[in-house]
Amino acid sequence: MSALPKLALPKVPGLVKGLGVTLKTMVRTLTKGSHTVQYPRVKEAPTPRARGVITLHEDNCTACMLCARECPDWCIYIEGHKYKAPPRRPGGKPRQKNALDRFDIDFALCMYCGICVDVCPFEALFWSPEFEYSEPRIADLLHDKSKLGQWMETVPDFQDYEAGSEAKKLQVPR
Ligand code: SF4
Ligand code: SF4
Repeated sequence: MSALPKLALPKVPGLVKGLGVTLKTMVRTLTKGSHTVQYPRVKEAPTPRARGVITLHEDNCTACMLCARECPDWCIYIEGHKYKAPPRRPGGKPRQKNALDRFDIDFALCMYCGICVDVCPFEALFWSPEFEYSEPRIADLLHDKSKLGQWMETVPDFQDYEAGSEAKKLQVPR
């Protein structure tokens, strides 16, 4: 059986197709409203648990380096030193502790994967929904521990667990 001959449809030029899409979008925007806002004149509130920026609660950080070792982008820079803390009980040995000298995150390299927040065993890193920290110079996206600490106040409290849960509810250190 011989194949049927293909119908030769008239070709629509790409420009006309493109203008058609533009017209359709314009009509939809005028009738139903747009999906975007005129930032920065209009600002939308992000969802409370949005991954805006990583914050540091310095008092909880022991400079263990775990977050820096696990970061796939190698964009966490930590420096610390050891010191002797007084013994817990009279007559005991002095304890060796780590002091944090430097904790920087380079947000020009960070890919917001959240691994550092997840692996920190001492509840020192948190997500904040803050997102307005763009800089004209890319080098200025390297933020130190004092800047990372300022965002702690924007970290939302942990949500309530399901009814019947016996797990202790975590608190955000303030
Ligand atoms: S979010 Fe991911 S890429 Fe960014 S600092 Fe943490 S581990 Fe590194
Ligand atoms: S933030 Fe957490 S994982 Fe990173 S060095 Fe401090 S205590 Fe260790």
